[in-house]
Amino acid sequence: PTAGQGVNPAPTHMLPPVSLLVEQPEVGAFNPPKRLLMGPGPGNAHPRVHAAMALPQIGHMDGAFLQMAEEIKEMLRYAWQTKNPFTVPCSGTGSAAWEALCANLTSPGDKHLVLVNGYFGLRHCDMASRYGAEIIKLEKPWGEVFTPEEVDAACAEHKPDMIWVAHAETSTGACQPMDQLGEIARNHDCLLAADTVTSIGGLPVRLDEWGVDAAYAGGQKALSCPPGIAPLTFGDRALTKMDKRTAAGEQVKNWYLDMNMIKQYLVVNDFGVPRVYHHTAPISMAYALREALGILTEEGLEASWSRHRDAAEFFWNELEKIGLECHVDWEHRLPTLTTVKIPEGIDGGKVVTYLRENYNIEIAGGLGALAGKVWRIGLMGYNARRENAALVCAALRDALD
Ligand code: PLP
Repeated sequence: PTAGQGVNPAPTHMLPPVSLLVEQPEVGAFNPPKRLLMGPGPGNAHPRVHAAMALPQIGHMDGAFLQMAEEIKEMLRYAWQTKNPFTVPCSGTGSAAWEALCANLTSPGDKHLVLVNGYFGLRHCDMASRYGAEIIKLEKPWGEVFTPEEVDAACAEHKPDMIWVAHAETSTGACQPMDQLGEIARNHDCLLAADTVTSIGGLPVRLDEWGVDAAYAGGQKALSCPPGIAPLTFGDRALTKMDKRTAAGEQVKNWYLDMNMIKQYLVVNDFGVPRVYHHTAPISMAYALREALGILTEEGLEASWSRHRDAAEFFWNELEKIGLECHVDWEHRLPTLTTVKIPEGIDGGKVVTYLRENYNIEIAGGLGALAGKVWRIGLMGYNARRENAALVCAALRDALD
């Protein structure tokens, strides 16, 4: 042996044979089928994003990682059109960032005015009530949207602490106009929280112009990233609420998503304060989100919004040509997610299966009130192109023949 390299001594005795309670399973390599993901999400991630996930690991306290996280934050501000310094990637899927919003901005007994016009509105009622919120539902049929007057009147009647709204309701395909909601929230001295999971990157989102105080998103839709890391942003009014809670000795009832602690890891170091370990950040997911946002930034936000709009309008026209109708009126349709009415006498589930088995295309059925009534078809991120819209229409036509 060369100097410094000892030879391990031969084992003096072998371990006695053991019997294992759970036997060694027989598994080979996993080869997922290659699907075109045209449902409500996830969509197919961009190939460059998959490649970024294979980059070498570095540690979560490594300066290079923290520097990269700063780039993610900067590009998220661009994607959301917000100047909020507190804009972070949250470990977990969109629901984790959502839960972070609830956990950090809800004091027990707070009133949440929840704009319920779909499945995700109901999820906010469930999630926020677990943190002690009193829920006031403002309801509309699934697929319709709210007027500012309706929201204003509900605020005047109920005096909420937070208004929650889904900008893009993935269960219905409706896009909620955001004009005036920020002003209404300020007039009634409450926070405005927005779900932008299915809108970020795919259609105009202008958080600061709209006066949104807190928002979250997901990576797996128009950002072309796999699920597993989720953007979260808090504006000044939301941070003031957090600080007031802390000053009153209220503890955030979720350790993992306590933004007072995450702040020490991802946000605070303006004065040379060292970052403080909280949890091990999902390194490869952060690479993925950075690459996805880099691709969006290279394309340009307006170009991405236009590409989504173009693919969606092409799709809606093609659907009409094959005799299919959309559930939401043209004016309020999301470009990223279309709900298509299932024609009378057709088993929607069989069509979903047919597309998967014959074309390797994934679409989905409706949720909740729209179960069995619509298909949900996404044109998101990397997949938002006319050729994919045409392919889905051709497959649908074949399935319905
Ligand atoms: N909000 C909306 C509007 C969504 O469409 C979704 C997921 O589809 C979520 C929240 C939850 O995100 P995730 O499934 O990434 O946890």
